[in-house]
Amino acid sequence: VNPEKERLYEAYELCSKLYHFLLKNTQHGQEAMAYLRSRGFNDKLIDQFGLGFAPDRWDTLVQFLGKREFDLLEMEKGGLLSARQDRDGYVDKFRNRIMFPIHDRNGRVIAFAGRILGEGQPKYLNSPESLLFNKSRTLYNLHQAKTSVRKQRQIILCEGYGDVISTWEAGFQNVVATMGTSLTEQQISVMKSMAEEVIVSYDGDRAGLNAAMKVLPMLENAGLKVRIALLGDGLDPDDYYRKYGGDRYRHVLENAAASTKFKLIYLKKNHILLEEQGKIAYTREALPVIAELSSSTEREVYLRELATELQLSYESLKQDCNLLRQSMQ
Ligand code: ATP
Ligand code: MN
Ligand code: MN
Ligand code: MN
Repeated sequence: VNPEKERLYEAYELCSKLYHFLLKNTQHGQEAMAYLRSRGFNDKLIDQFGLGFAPDRWDTLVQFLGKREFDLLEMEKGGLLSARQDRDGYVDKFRNRIMFPIHDRNGRVIAFAGRILGEGQPKYLNSPESLLFNKSRTLYNLHQAKTSVRKQRQIILCEGYGDVISTWEAGFQNVVATMGTSLTEQQISVMKSMAEEVIVSYDGDRAGLNAAMKVLPMLENAGLKVRIALLGDGLDPDDYYRKYGGDRYRHVLENAAASTKFKLIYLKKNHILLEEQGKIAYTREALPVIAELSSSTEREVYLRELATELQLSYESLKQDCNLLRQSMQ
């Protein structure tokens, strides 16, 4: 064991308890509590996810850790404090933010994400990487999700912390999120070791759709089955759940689209299908997606759908698809 690492684990654990206490039981936390409630996060969820509040002052942790005789330089290296610019000493890294503790898969706190109350920049501030925290290996909520993931052989992947919390409340315990960065190969191998299928439940905005399109081949190349939840309206899973309720969100997750279906919907968005040029351009992009399917039944299903949608004959689409398949070999 590395004693510095053990001290840092202890500090993160204590600080997350402190932030949670400050949120729930003190005057400092009242505005943050009101903000969380306004977003629909109730006490049970706040406890389940250990949410907290870092007060609007420079020395909450400096005092707290100092009194407990932690080495403040070590705490700075560990990402809980920052060195002062003007003179010697340290200040808190997180101030006036809602605190989301980030755990490793064994449930130890290894970092924080701090959200500003309401509008402002940066919206989220994350702990820097440290002896404990490697963000490209970490999946938010994996410690609480892993049992359910292993049992169901399925994992739901979101973009944001709030999305995980709402998805959990909707009744899905097998939910995790990336750390505000693109999905990495390391995160994929963690998922692959526990599950056969990934349900991608990314934001329904342009950025989320693009990100989903990007992770699809990565997950499939790793041998995972992939389906994509279609939220529409530019909403993220948390927004969707708050706006339409659990029944509708559960329906969306349970009926998540197969990857071919999602790719076709994604490509279609760029074309105006009422115009000849739009039809042709969309067909040119859609056919390679269908042609790469190895099952002729699956190809037929999608080609027939495309034919109906574009008012074209199945035969001509099939012919072009087969030509494409020949040129792909
Ligand atoms: P909220 O619902 O609280 O407004 P969100 O999770 O919907 O937040 P998005 O803007 O959709 O936020 O971003 C998705 C995720 O990306 C966030 O949960 C967070 O992990 C990360 N993220 C967003 N903005 C930042 C930022 N400025 N710095 C670091 N990470 C960020
Ligand atoms: Mn987003
Ligand atoms: Mn979002
Ligand atoms: Mn959101």
